Amino acid sequence: MAYPLTYIEFYEGLKEGKLLGLKCKQCGAITAPPKICCAECGSTKVEVAQLSGKGEIKTYTVIRVAPDGFNPPYIVAMAEMEEGPWLMGNLEGVDPDNLPEKIIGSKVKTGHKVIEPALYTAGEGVAITFSLV
Ligand SMILES: [Zn+2]
Repeated sequence: MAYPLTYIEFYEGLKEGKLLGLKCKQCGAITAPPKICCAECGSTKVEVAQLSGKGEIKTYTVIRVAPDGFNPPYIVAMAEMEEGPWLMGNLEGVDPDNLPEKIIGSKVKTGHKVIEPALYTAGEGVAITFSLV
C-alpha cells in the first residue's frame, strides 16, 4: 500500500510554508504528521489536506543537554492545531533562560527550519517550528 502523504512530501510542504496532513473521508478527522491511515478511526480512506498552521501550546520543555549537532538551550513544545492534531516542534523567538510567565495556552503558528546533517541525523532534515502570535 502506498502512503497517501510521505514524510518527504510533508517536509517539502513545510519548506514551501504549507503544513500538510490527511483528512479522513470516513470520520473527517485530520491526521498530522502523516501516517498510513486516519489516527482516529484507522480508515485508509484519507486525502491530503492543508492545515491552517495555527495552534495552541499544550506543553513544553527546555532542552539543556542536547545531542551532538544541536545548540542548547532550546524549547521543544507540543501544540494542538486548530484542526485537532498535536504536533511537536521547536518554540522559537522565546529566550529559554528568560521564559514568559505563561507559555501553555499561548497561540502559535507553525514554520520550519532546516536541520543540518549531524552525527545522529540521517542527513539534512526539516523540523517544525512554532512562533508566538
Ligand atoms: Zn477517520
